[in-house]
Amino acid sequence: MKRHTVKELQNMLADQSISSEEIHQIYLNRIKSMNDSINAFISIESDEISLSSEQKNSEIKGIPYALKDIFCSEGDKTTCGSKMLANFVSPYDATVVRNLREKGTVILGKTNMDEFAMGSSNETSFYGNVLNPWDEERTPGGSSGGSAAAVAAGMAPIALGTDTGGSIRQPAALTGITGLKPTYGRCSRFGMIAFASSLDQAGILSISAEDAAIFLEHMAGYDQKDSTSSIEEVPKYTEFLNNDLTGKVVGLPREFFDGSLDSKYQTLVTESIHEYEKMGVQFKDISLPNIKYSVPTYYVVAPAECSSNLARYDGVRFGHRSSEGTDLDSFYKQTRKEGFGPEVKRRIITGTYVLSAGYYDAYYLKAQKVRQLINQDFLNAFEEVDVIMGPTTQQSAFKLGDKLDDPVSMYMNDIYTISSNLSGVPAISHPIGFVDNLPFGLQVIAPHFMEHDLLNIVHQYQMSTDWHLQTPNLCREFD
Ligand code: GLN
Repeated sequence: MKRHTVKELQNMLADQSISSEEIHQIYLNRIKSMNDSINAFISIESDEISLSSEQKNSEIKGIPYALKDIFCSEGDKTTCGSKMLANFVSPYDATVVRNLREKGTVILGKTNMDEFAMGSSNETSFYGNVLNPWDEERTPGGSSGGSAAAVAAGMAPIALGTDTGGSIRQPAALTGITGLKPTYGRCSRFGMIAFASSLDQAGILSISAEDAAIFLEHMAGYDQKDSTSSIEEVPKYTEFLNNDLTGKVVGLPREFFDGSLDSKYQTLVTESIHEYEKMGVQFKDISLPNIKYSVPTYYVVAPAECSSNLARYDGVRFGHRSSEGTDLDSFYKQTRKEGFGPEVKRRIITGTYVLSAGYYDAYYLKAQKVRQLINQDFLNAFEEVDVIMGPTTQQSAFKLGDKLDDPVSMYMNDIYTISSNLSGVPAISHPIGFVDNLPFGLQVIAPHFMEHDLLNIVHQYQMSTDWHLQTPNLCREFD
């Protein structure tokens, strides 16, 4: 069985050419044969599946998926890529996991990720880095690199990830798949281990936009347990996929097209724009003047929130506990010293600093003000255009180790993606071609709660191109 989309699996289940148990076994076998090399999964859930009759009529019943190890899933080890939670077994489901479980989907395993989702290459994981299925000397991107590699390599038809500054879109771009970060608040954050609460968003890594639409419909929605989740009604995303794109206006921000993108990538972006033009889309130059402050703003806000969120890992209630401390203070310190890796420590120290008395106004408050300006840039732009397009990343997958010793160059990976998290708007990355056999992605950004527009636009592109269907060589073994 080749690499299949969720849609194809649905069709095969509907015409009874395969059973959900058989599908489950095929993916588990594939994970078992590939995971030793790719390292996409931290744990594999190989229990036999049992689907109840209530789930009988769900359109996604029996569809297996890979779950980023940041989501709590009942009875499963949930590590968040950290030694701190190496032995943590979640007693409950995250709301998005519960929503999907109620519809009869099946978790294949928990995917590898940068520690506490801090990183852009998966190299900060306590469980070792993930390899890019297109070139095993390269990173799949991060922090949802395990989920991205699992889908790209055909170890799962679809996966869940989280995106705080680009962690769904960037790895999707680097592994040649589709990655959707919905609007902030579209999906509940309950049970999703917190990194930066005002930016974190659950989303989907899939082969196609159509598959993302199928899953989002079931994941999204208001949740009493998350007061920042939105009461906005969840549309039936699949019903929008075939809308005609004629007359849509797309903004091209001059800040994304300032000549800094290498010409080999620029060529792909230009070709994808031509493809969209053929579908009746019009393009317009726009400006997002404050976007240049996105990365520094993010690297004040996100560490500030993380320093507060990660204060709970003190060795007392759950997680790693040091046996070394001699009094309460040294016990806390020793536990955190042993449990966290260097990048997490760097963020906690930075975050504590920007929140401390005397620096709060100069850094944190200033960053919050700039954040408002960035949001206003998007609101102004969307007065003129329906969506915004640009590259997802500055380059295709880079070599493992290339940026590990240079945090600032690692942080710059998210230069095109971070602004949508600061503003909360939804964004999607989809594959648009290859440079030296490595995939590259285009990002499409929409106004708040316009995911249906994003999915429609990308679906139309994917109906007339086949970049998203290209598979790495190692998938050929399935044929
Ligand atoms: N790379 C960014 C960071 O390290 C974003 C991570 C994310 O989206 N989770 O903070």
